[in-house]
Amino acid sequence: MKLLEERIRLAGKVKDGDILKVDSFLNHQLDIELLDKLGEEFYRLFKDSGVNKILTVEASGIAFACMAARYFKVPVVFAKKSRSANISEDVYKSEVRSFTHGVTNTVIVSREYLSPKDRVLIIDDFLANGKALTGLTDIVRQSGAVAVGAGIVIEKAYQGGGDRLRANGLRIESLAKIVSMSDEDGIIFDSDI
Ligand code: 5GP
Repeated sequence: MKLLEERIRLAGKVKDGDILKVDSFLNHQLDIELLDKLGEEFYRLFKDSGVNKILTVEASGIAFACMAARYFKVPVVFAKKSRSANISEDVYKSEVRSFTHGVTNTVIVSREYLSPKDRVLIIDDFLANGKALTGLTDIVRQSGAVAVGAGIVIEKAYQGGGDRLRANGLRIESLAKIVSMSDEDGIIFDSDI
């Protein structure tokens, strides 16, 4: 998505450890007009998939999921991160190692909010090694619902998570796909090559 790529190039900051900071418009301060366009694009891509629920993980995925949900007119469920040992039996749960923080969280969703009759679109801000998305698809599988696909705002394609999950049959649509990034050469998108 051209508009998003231009904004990432203008305001994104490449940090050590393969981290792209987009705090000025996506991850801390939120440009709602841009987010609305991202939500509309997710709708355009998945509108024929019979989506009746959107699933994301707290915290940064929630804003994108909500903007998309306004177009789909469906509820958003966000997986909660929990580091406590005594998690109730009434939840689906999966272990997710955080790319940015290096800790492992148990992410949980109440059994009340996902069931076999659901067709779920998963939304997240970044796709890197694919741990977050794997955890969310695992939760959908536990619930018996169908994961119709995943909508990702920024995929760092060179980290390989997206390709691994696509090879397992998951439909993944990324609005910006970075093929390389560095301080010296800047950010290269798949649309540049
Ligand atoms: P994965 O689980 O695919 O390795 O990483 C995805 C998760 O890590 C996303 O939910 C996102 O919060 C975080 N993440 C991964 N790479 C980046 C990055 O370059 N910048 C930011 N801000 N978050 C990232």
